[in-house]
Amino acid sequence: MCSQMITVKRVHRTLVWFRGKDLRVSDHEPLIKALEDGEVIPLFVFDPYFFHPLRARKLPHRMQFLLESISELADNLASHGSRLVCVSGSSVAVVPELVQKWGVTQVFAHRWTEPFGRIRDARIADALSVPFKLYEGETLHPPGTLRTGKGAPYSVFTPFSKALRSQARISAPLPPPESITPVPEVALSDSENIPALEDLGIERNPSLQNGGETAARHRLKLFLKTHASSYASGRDQLGASATSRLSADIKFGTLSVRSIWEKIAPLKTETSAESIETFKTELIWRDFAYSTLWDRPEVLKQPFRPQWEGFPWQNDPEDWKAWTEGRTGYPVIDAAARELRETGFVHNRARMITASFLCKHLLIDYRRGESHFLKYLTDGDWAQNNAGWQWSAGSGCDAQPYFRVFNPFSQGEKFDPEGKYVRRWIPEIKLLPSRYIYRPWTAPEAVLDKAGISLGGDYPLPIVDHAMARERFLRVAKAHLKRNE
Ligand SMILES: Cc1cc2nc3c(=O)[nH]c(=O)nc-3n(C[C@H](O)[C@H](O)[C@H](O)COP(=O)(O)OP(=O)(O)OC[C@H]3O[C@@H](n4cnc5c(N)ncnc54)[C@H](O)[C@@H]3O)c2cc1C
Repeated sequence: MCSQMITVKRVHRTLVWFRGKDLRVSDHEPLIKALEDGEVIPLFVFDPYFFHPLRARKLPHRMQFLLESISELADNLASHGSRLVCVSGSSVAVVPELVQKWGVTQVFAHRWTEPFGRIRDARIADALSVPFKLYEGETLHPPGTLRTGKGAPYSVFTPFSKALRSQARISAPLPPPESITPVPEVALSDSENIPALEDLGIERNPSLQNGGETAARHRLKLFLKTHASSYASGRDQLGASATSRLSADIKFGTLSVRSIWEKIAPLKTETSAESIETFKTELIWRDFAYSTLWDRPEVLKQPFRPQWEGFPWQNDPEDWKAWTEGRTGYPVIDAAARELRETGFVHNRARMITASFLCKHLLIDYRRGESHFLKYLTDGDWAQNNAGWQWSAGSGCDAQPYFRVFNPFSQGEKFDPEGKYVRRWIPEIKLLPSRYIYRPWTAPEAVLDKAGISLGGDYPLPIVDHAMARERFLRVAKAHLKRNE
């Protein structure tokens, strides 16, 4: 008998299913592994769960970014000799059907953390007659795998972050393939066009970031060159745009998170060390949000802390309208509301201040704010948005304690003393001197006249008194949490 083992490589026809969180050719493990096994069919399914016009219109900014990113992915695949096969229909029905029809022998994709994605994947795995392999890559470290000494999920960020830094092996990103096998005719003939934004009844917003791998790489390059080394001091400056603006790229996977981690590390010098570590910590906050959602999928519907169940939110419709329209009379809150609707983005500090204001000053359920953000944020992400809202309300995992109520004046004055952010988004008050910019109603008549401002006319007077609202929230929250202890 021959002692030498001869390995015969099996030739597969692999369906590589791109699913809106990995819209790239670089660092795409399912694609690379599929190519090692033989022939590849790249697929995107336009599932009515997201793409029915009535659904799509509920997330106009994400749709715009997503469609641009899918188009660029299709171009990139074509430039590698392949094609993105696009089909419409419910994934649960369509994928098993196409696998049969196209003679596919295995299906590869990236794993999703969200509960509905997990349920979808379990149903598809059941319906498939071939192996369905899910790869990691959405996060730095697979969610649900870091555990405390007692084997429990982490509920405090700092030990989670320490564990990730010491235990995670964040491997180097994979290069894009040199070429990809051509798509067989049987699949090509089923391919449909990528829908246009207008087909979904969405008007293009020219102020949004561009989607796609090229724009993402450009943003990363710019950040590394400009603000990365001073991120620690710049990140909180409301008027400065000194953060990476990579959130939508990470969300839609036009850049993999580990490729960002890899690119930022070499910038660490004696002077930039704090900034580089702070930036990495933000990426770990993202992993923490994903891990929490993995272990506690119910957080998308209910508070992480059970004591918050049944909280007596007031949900006043007039207050809600003022908050969503940017007419609360609190400039920093109104600036965030207008930035959100106009550009699909809000600075992190402004997200925290405005979320706190909605829940604590206005006593409006954080879930309403969460869905409003999900509607308009281009980076709107189930895990991070839920974590951000529950952190702000006080109901979340390692949240801001309920008794810390952000002061919308001092936050503004501290993080943007000249009021650049506010002036940009609220032209009605842009001529006010800086000392009044966060409290226009305290300006003397003569100053208001000079700045051409009619308070209560062009720009509203505050809809609530800060001190009263703070005191009211503390009273209500203390009583509720005590009852539910
Ligand atoms: C109420 C609220 C809602 C939020 N909703 C979302 C959301 O839907 N999608 C989203 O991506 N982020 C969300 N965040 C987190 C954060 O505000 C954004 O990630 C950040 O502002 C994006 O800008 P950037 O890419 O320039 O961030 P950078 O400061 O450059 O950070 C780099 C990356 O780290 C991650 N990150 C940064 N801060 C956080 C954080 N606090 N928690 C988790 N991850 C973070 C993001 O992926 C970000 O792109 C929310 C925060 C709050 C307070």
